[in-house]
Amino acid sequence: MPRERVVSAQARSDEAAAGKADKPLHATLRPERFDHYVGQRDLLRKLRITVQAADQRGEPVDHTLFHGPPGLGKTTLAHVIANEIGTKAHVTAGPALTKPADLVGVVTSLGTGDVLFIDEIHRLSRVVEEYLYVAMEDYKIDITLDSGSHARVVTMPVKPFTLVGATTRIGLLTAPMRARFGLVEHLDFYPPADLLVILQANAQKLGVKAEATALEELSHRSRGTPRVANRLLRRVRDFASVEGDGDITADLCRRALELEGIDAIGLDALDRSFLRALIDVYSGGPAGIEAVAATLGEERDTLEDVIEPYLLQQGLLARTRQGRRVTKKAYDHLGLPMPESADSGLFA
Ligand code: ADP
Repeated sequence: MPRERVVSAQARSDEAAAGKADKPLHATLRPERFDHYVGQRDLLRKLRITVQAADQRGEPVDHTLFHGPPGLGKTTLAHVIANEIGTKAHVTAGPALTKPADLVGVVTSLGTGDVLFIDEIHRLSRVVEEYLYVAMEDYKIDITLDSGSHARVVTMPVKPFTLVGATTRIGLLTAPMRARFGLVEHLDFYPPADLLVILQANAQKLGVKAEATALEELSHRSRGTPRVANRLLRRVRDFASVEGDGDITADLCRRALELEGIDAIGLDALDRSFLRALIDVYSGGPAGIEAVAATLGEERDTLEDVIEPYLLQQGLLARTRQGRRVTKKAYDHLGLPMPESADSGLFA
C-alpha cells in the first residue's frame, strides 16, 4: 500500500471518522460559526445573506452546492450553516446512498430546517438522484412497499430541509441535479495570509507555542488548503516535541517539512513525479491524463482531483485541448533547463 501523503487534501479515514463523530481534537479545529470561518470572503458574504433572509422568512435555507478541491472547507460550511440557524447537520456521501431506501432513511430522519450534507454528490446513482429531486422540491419521498404484484407506493412527507451538496467535480454533475440548487458556489485555494490566520488560531487551540516565521513558512507550504495546513501543523508539533522542547521554531519546522519531502511551495514527491513524468516521458507534454496516470501507476481520479488543481493554480501545469503540458515555471521550479523543442513559451 502506498504511503499516505501528508499533503493530500483528502480526509484520511481517521480524520474523517473523527470529523464525523466530532471527536474533541477535530471538533476544536473546525470553525463553528461564520465569524470563525477564515477567508472565502465573497462566498461568506453571500451565505450570510442567504441564511439571514431565510431566517427572516422562516423558511429553510436554499439548497446549496459547493464545488472545489478537497480540504477547502465544504463540509465545515455545511456545519456552520446548521449552527447559524440552530439546526442539525446530517452528513453522508454519494457512494453511501446506493439505493433509494438508503436515502429514504436519511431524509425521513431530518428535523425542520436541518442541513443534509451529501459529499461527493456527483457519485449518486441516477435512481437515488430522482428520489432526491422530489425530496428537495416537494418535501416528500416515495417508498415502495412489498414487491411484485403486491408492490405499492406510499408517499411520506419530509420536513423542509436544506441540502448542501459538495463535489470536487462539478462537470460530472447532471444538469437537472445542478439546476435544483439555489446557490452554486466555488471554493478557491486560500492565500498564505488566510492560512496563517488559521494556523495561528489552531496552534493556540492545540496549546503549542510557535515562532511567527515557522507558521509563515507553513502557510506557504500548505497547498492553499486548510486541511493540509492543519495536518502539517500536527506533524511539525510532533517533530518539535521529539527533536526539540515542544516549541515550534522556524528551524524545526523546516527540518520537519524536509523530512516529509515537502518543498518550498508545498509540493511533495508525487507532485514532482507528476511533473517529472510529463517532462521525462512526454517531453513536457502535451500528454493525456490516462497516459500520465499509467506512467505513475496512480488512479486518474486522484491525479485530477488532488494533484492537478494545485499545480494548475500555481501555473506549473497547463491543460490544453491536446492534453497536459508543463510550463516554463515547472522547469524552473525543478531546476531543469527547458529544452528548445518544448515549446511551452505560450504558457510561461
Ligand atoms: P472539504 O469538505 O472541502 O474537504 P473540510 O470542511 O472537511 O473540507 O475542511 C478540512 C479541515 O480544514 C476542517 O477540519 C477544518 O478544520 C479546516 N478548515 C476548512 N476551512 C476552514 C476555514 N475557512 N477556516 C478555518 N479552518 C478551516
